[in-house]
Amino acid sequence: MNSIVVHYKELALKGKNRPWFVQVLVRNLRAALADLNVRTIRSVMGRIEIELGADRPNAAPRAPNPVWEEVRNRVQRVFGIANFSYAGRGPLDLRALAATILADLEDRHTESFRVSARRADKRFPFTSPQIEREVGGLIQEAKGWRCDLDHPAFTIHVEMLPDEAFYFFGKEPGAGGLPTGTGGRVACLLSGGIDSPVAAYRMMRRGCSVLLIHFHSYPILSRASQDKVREIAALLTTYQLRSRLVLVSFGELQQKVVLAVPPRLRVVIYRRLMLRIAEKLARRWHGRALVTGEVIGQVASQTLENMTAIAEATSLQVLRPLVGMDKDEISAEAERLGTFRISIIPDQDCCQLFTPRHPATRVRREEVADAEQALPIAEMVDAAVAAAAVEDFRFPVLHYLDPAARHANVEP
Ligand code: ATP
Ligand code: MG
Repeated sequence: MNSIVVHYKELALKGKNRPWFVQVLVRNLRAALADLNVRTIRSVMGRIEIELGADRPNAAPRAPNPVWEEVRNRVQRVFGIANFSYAGRGPLDLRALAATILADLEDRHTESFRVSARRADKRFPFTSPQIEREVGGLIQEAKGWRCDLDHPAFTIHVEMLPDEAFYFFGKEPGAGGLPTGTGGRVACLLSGGIDSPVAAYRMMRRGCSVLLIHFHSYPILSRASQDKVREIAALLTTYQLRSRLVLVSFGELQQKVVLAVPPRLRVVIYRRLMLRIAEKLARRWHGRALVTGEVIGQVASQTLENMTAIAEATSLQVLRPLVGMDKDEISAEAERLGTFRISIIPDQDCCQLFTPRHPATRVRREEVADAEQALPIAEMVDAAVAAAAVEDFRFPVLHYLDPAARHANVEP
């Protein structure tokens, strides 16, 4: 066995756009596996075949290709895939196909089995049940296994293509969603917290390319938050393959706010400044919406009233993919993604700095307008945008969890 058969599902629903979605998925798979020993990646009649490279020095003839484990790790993260399988290719002649499968089954044992057939090419002269009966019968004869169509302990899948057949023994779940690059670009405000990396991931999973924007208060505070978001950006890059991280210095702006704005309004004013800056950065890179990790009722700035007041600072859509989730649901997803352990590293978030103990939970539009009268908003925003630093990440990011190697992967 030397291939991987990739199945997509949701993609299949996209009508006239389907060929384009598949093309993008193939391109993403090529990028994700670029440095591995893979011979070809091609789209064949409703599925994608990844053919692994052949040079396998010293490997036993039927041992899995050594590159399979790493390919599996990476394919698991590519969006737009329903499931995938380590597969072999066999001839279309059903006797010869059964013989090829039997050779690969070696001394495997099972309580019960079935063959499950699909015809990618409907011109194949036998129906799927006929293929199942014929191939299943031959395998049963050779192995003596019990056939169980409803609850088999082991399923042998065969798929008939025009020139050959694929066969495989199990299915690995894919990441679902839509291929990165099919959903347009958005800009996510990425703090070092638990929520916003999950929000960015959710948008990536729907096919969006996500520009990452972080506000920090260096040199008033330490660099810790920047190091955290770099690590989060590198991790998220294993999903979207290329990321741009924009680091915006926010401490001076906050000092200006502190001098001019009553404590209870400050959090909302900080957030409105962040959105204005993010909008400019998003537009520079053709981003069509802003994304935050806000959740209704999670903290004082996240009441419906305050979220409205905050979003009114920008004319871009503000998308909040986590808005209805509980903290423990978000944390569980962050664990699964691997961002949780980075997010909980203590840092000094720019918003803890200069944040009052009792922020207003329901600011009114007029109060906000009055407070902002006292600030040179446009100038502040322009200065922050002009001073922003850009770092690009690209997958495969080698050693992305090793701090010493991290900067080797940041493109100039
Ligand atoms: P998170 O876990 O994402 O930090 P949070 O629960 O701490 O969220 P807030 O601090 O109120 O919530 O932030 C709400 C949203 O505002 C964040 O999810 C993020 O999108 C954005 N945000 C907050 N602080 C920053 C920052 N320093 N840089 C970039 N975005 C930020
Ligand atoms: Mg936060």
